[in-house]
Amino acid sequence: EADKVPERILFYQSSMLNLRTKRVELENDLYKALENDELFLQYQPQLDLQTGEIKSMEALVRWNHPTKGWISPMDFIPIAEESGLIIPFGRWVLETACRQTMELQKVLNKPFKVSVNLSVGQLFQDNFVDIIKEVIKDTNISPQSLELEITESMTMNTNYITPILKDLKEIGLTIAIDDFGTGYSSLSYLKDLPIDCLKIDRSFVQKVTNIEDREPLVDMIISMAQHLKLSVVAEGIETIEQLQYLQRKNCDFIQGYLISKPINYEELVEKYEEIQQE
Ligand code: C2E
Ligand code: CA
Ligand code: CA
Ligand code: CA
Repeated sequence: EADKVPERILFYQSSMLNLRTKRVELENDLYKALENDELFLQYQPQLDLQTGEIKSMEALVRWNHPTKGWISPMDFIPIAEESGLIIPFGRWVLETACRQTMELQKVLNKPFKVSVNLSVGQLFQDNFVDIIKEVIKDTNISPQSLELEITESMTMNTNYITPILKDLKEIGLTIAIDDFGTGYSSLSYLKDLPIDCLKIDRSFVQKVTNIEDREPLVDMIISMAQHLKLSVVAEGIETIEQLQYLQRKNCDFIQGYLISKPINYEELVEKYEEIQQE
């Protein structure tokens, strides 16, 4: 029978198999990456539009694979999620971000805040609140210096998520909703969620080409944040026009290549004064 299968389908099957093998391979490699110090963090500064100061930054994970080179977090985070590796991996990210932020605070003598991205599997593990408490205790970071970024989709089941977020906020840290505007949040439930910050997704910001533009979605998110007394960060700012537009709209913070690309901890220490003055 097999020789009656059209070639096209056979090809399809073999390329699917290929994809699976690659995935398993990457999963094994990711497992080793944790032990072999192939992972590290970069930080992207956030500019306070009111004061022109850098007071916070987002931690972004990087993987330098021994043979494949750089692999994007967009490609390996889903694998970490599916394999369960996200638990040790997520903890490593949290610990490293808190430890390096503490160092940065010492070296630059400023109370920096760090934002850490969370994955679904990480946030929804049974003892996540305890893990956060442990990380804070082990690294000695002040809880006020830590922000956790979750996505809109993680907040969909409000009855389940609300108590978790409340427990986290009780520790003293803050919660941001990442990529805001790309999901389906409705204003009515957003107002009851214990959160502190909205991050406007890059895709909305990138439509702004001059200071006089009208970008209703950006405007709406900012005024929504203001009504709910949340702070608002605009992501993916690449041009001075975008900066000016957001300044005009009283956005609190901006983040993007215009200010700085994500950079290593050492680079941030070096370039800090320069970034801030721009
Ligand atoms: P994200 O949380 O939305 O992070 C912002 C992404 O936009 C980063 O990509 C950053 O490098 C990029 N970016 C920043 N400014 C600009 C800009 O001006 N223009 C453009 N075109 N891009 C800009 P990156 O580092 O590749 O991360 C991609 C995604 O991977 C992140 O999106 C986040 O969802 C996820 N991710 C990264 N690190 C972690 C982590 O430690 N844990 C988890 N769970 N997810 C992570
Ligand atoms: Ca983020
Ligand atoms: Ca984002
Ligand atoms: Ca710059």
